[in-house]
Amino acid sequence: MRRPRRLLLLSLCLLITAAFAFAQSGTSTPPPPREKKIHLKHILVVGQTKGFEHDSVTDGMVAIYNMGRESGLWEATLRTDAELITKKDLGRNAKNLDYFDALVFMSTTGELDLDDGQKKDMMSFIKDDGKGFVGIHAALDTNYKWPEYGEMIGGWFDQHPWMTFNAPIINEDFNFPAVRHFPHAFVKYDEIYQPKEWSREKVHVLLSLDSAKLNYENNPRIHRTDHDFAVAWDKMYGQGRVFYSTLGHTQEAWSDPDILKMYFEAIKWAMVLTEGSTASHARVPEGGDR
Ligand SMILES: [Zn+2]
Repeated sequence: MRRPRRLLLLSLCLLITAAFAFAQSGTSTPPPPREKKIHLKHILVVGQTKGFEHDSVTDGMVAIYNMGRESGLWEATLRTDAELITKKDLGRNAKNLDYFDALVFMSTTGELDLDDGQKKDMMSFIKDDGKGFVGIHAALDTNYKWPEYGEMIGGWFDQHPWMTFNAPIINEDFNFPAVRHFPHAFVKYDEIYQPKEWSREKVHVLLSLDSAKLNYENNPRIHRTDHDFAVAWDKMYGQGRVFYSTLGHTQEAWSDPDILKMYFEAIKWAMVLTEGSTASHARVPEGGDR
C-alpha cells in the first residue's frame, strides 16, 4: 500500500509544479533583455582634440561614463566631435544641448569645430539655461580665439612649468563637495597648468599649488609673478555652474579614487545636485601651515 501512495504524492507534486509554471508563463511576460534604465540626468562629454592629443582622453571619458552608470545618476554621451553642441534640431535621433544637463570638456585642445551659432548656443546653455560645465585638464588649452570661452572657464593655458611632477597641493575649501575628501596638504603626480588671464578674484579657488614648495630656478616657463597656481576652481557663469581642474593629464589619474571622486562630485555640483560656494577668497597662507 505504501508504494501507490508515494506515487500519488509524486504525481501531485509534479502537477502542482506544472500548474505553477503554466500560471507564471501565462500571467506575466518577462522583461525585455535590455530594458533602458531611467537616468536622473544626461551629460555630454566632448573630447575633441584639434591640438595636442592626450592619451588619457579615452580613460577619462570611460571613467565619467562608468561613474554615471554605477551611481545611477547620469547617462553620458561620449563624443570626439562638437556636433551636438547646438540647440538646433539635428534630426536623425541626434540629441542636442536641450537634452543635456551638463557639458564636460575632456582634455579638449585647440579651436573646436564650433560655428558662431554653436558658440552662442553653448554659452546660452550655461549662462541662460543654468546648465553645468566641467572642464578637465586641457579644457583650458582650448578655444583661444573665443574670448567668451576664456571668460566662462576662467582663463587659458600658459605652459606647464614643471611638466608632470609630484605636485604639492593645498586644499583651500574643505566644505566644497568636490574637494572635501582631500587632506589639507597632499601630493599628486600630474601635469599642472599655469593659467593666464586668470585671477583668483574671478573664481573660487578649491585647490592650489603650495608655492613655498615649488622650484623656481632656471624655469623660464614660469610667468605668474604672484606664484598663484590654482589646481581646481569653480565659478558661476550667468545662471550656470562651472568647475575646472588641471588634474587628469595621465592615464593613471583615471584610476585614482581621489581624482575620480573629485570629478564625480564636481559633475553633481555643476548639475545643482549639491551645494558649494562660488565666492572668491584670499589665498591661504603659504607653506601649508594653516
Ligand atoms: Zn596634459
